[in-house]
Amino acid sequence: MKEYRYRTFGLHNYKKIPQINEYLTEEQQFEIDVVGNVLPFKANNYVVDELIDWDNVPDDPIFTLTFPQKDMLSAAHFDKMAAALRQDLSKPERKEIANEIRLELNPHPAGQMEYNVPSIEGVKLTGIQHKYRETMLFFPNHGQTCHAYCTFCFRWPQFVGMDELKFAMRETELLVKYVDRHPEITDILFTGGDPLIMSSKRLESYLLPLIDGQVGNLQTIRLGTKSLGYWPYRFINDKDADDTLRLFEKIVKAGKHLAFMAHFNHPAEMKTEAAKEAVRRIRNTGAEIRTQSPIMRNINDDADTWATMWRDQVKHGMIPYYMFIARDTGAQHYFALPLEKIWHIFRDAYQQVSGVARTVRGPSMSAEPGKVQMLGVSEVKGEKVMTLRFLQGRNPDWVHKPFFAKYNPDAIWLDDLEPAFGEEQFFFEEQYDQFKNRKAKAATASLEPA
Ligand SMILES: *Cc1c(COP(=O)(O)O)cnc(C)c1O
Ligand code: SF4
Repeated sequence: MKEYRYRTFGLHNYKKIPQINEYLTEEQQFEIDVVGNVLPFKANNYVVDELIDWDNVPDDPIFTLTFPQKDMLSAAHFDKMAAALRQDLSKPERKEIANEIRLELNPHPAGQMEYNVPSIEGVKLTGIQHKYRETMLFFPNHGQTCHAYCTFCFRWPQFVGMDELKFAMRETELLVKYVDRHPEITDILFTGGDPLIMSSKRLESYLLPLIDGQVGNLQTIRLGTKSLGYWPYRFINDKDADDTLRLFEKIVKAGKHLAFMAHFNHPAEMKTEAAKEAVRRIRNTGAEIRTQSPIMRNINDDADTWATMWRDQVKHGMIPYYMFIARDTGAQHYFALPLEKIWHIFRDAYQQVSGVARTVRGPSMSAEPGKVQMLGVSEVKGEKVMTLRFLQGRNPDWVHKPFFAKYNPDAIWLDDLEPAFGEEQFFFEEQYDQFKNRKAKAATASLEPA
């Protein structure tokens, strides 16, 4: 296994990567500069040397996953930023232009900010999102970056310093209190960014208060992470790797289920010895590893890639969990695929693997009302329809109730769909509108003087 000391690359220093000058033209480098001034860009030496196949660049999936590409911006946005760079504008002027473009890229999809932030004793818990009854998301303040950035990431606004959109929290006291007062919560999902960017000491400060017996309703602690794909040395020879593993053991011994929600977008991320070793070490602590990824054009849009990925994951003791559909934000136009095509890919892949890999659910859209699964295209009473259902809903009653949309081969997201059979609304819409009105009223009320 090759050893690395973690070294990151971004706009300011990526030209020091030897492969850049060897494999990319001046023009391609300029394109990285242009797009990288708008969307986040961070890679590291492991990704660059071990995961990217440079002979395959620019088509290489991991290159596309981590390096900005021209077509991730619309032609108009690209030209605007390119002009700014050519004019040699000052940094603040460039930033202003970048922010103008960013605001046109739907920086906050799926009502994340508006509807999901709870409060306790009048304090807004900005680091908590509680959308689905059983599972609470927690954004630890120190876990809001990653070992590299994915070009598709829907959390991109926080990585480019649109700070007013960043939500995170430092205190665990309020976190414990919140879980304690909400006995319906069984799961906490630590997310970011990537919580495994944190040192073992910091991780302890967040995790230990959750296992000391106070919050009996809490069963599962999940860590949403891409560290296995982007920096497996976190669990091998980083200086606190062993302390981190010991912390995992402690959580398991305390009787909690510790689950890694590991992002893997492509089988290339699992082929290195380091990745396999990290998986072995984590599994040895008693933690489980579940896997998830969005499906994206230009990265993993074929069935064999998914079947290979699921098979490899099972082989190494991981549990395939979710296939997501790329969100309606950032460079979505570059990654998006029609729902019908995605369903075909999912099905073709699913058919190729044995039952133990069929734990995967999807393809699923994390939309405002909930996680909506695309079940397929069928014909009902002579009408061609798309069948969908909720895997998670703002209202748990919506879950696992099939509903039907008019067949639309171009639809890429729930918003593009209309109810089938001449109906006015999908079954959940009235309740969802009521929910939104209630939230809007509450928000207005809180602005009024007391
Ligand atoms: C996906 C998601 C969860 C977790 O859902 P599971 O189906 O339990 O994995 C929780 N909260 C939000 C906001 C989510 O998007
Ligand atoms: S690792 Fe996760 S949070 Fe970080 S950039 Fe990738 S998708 Fe986004």
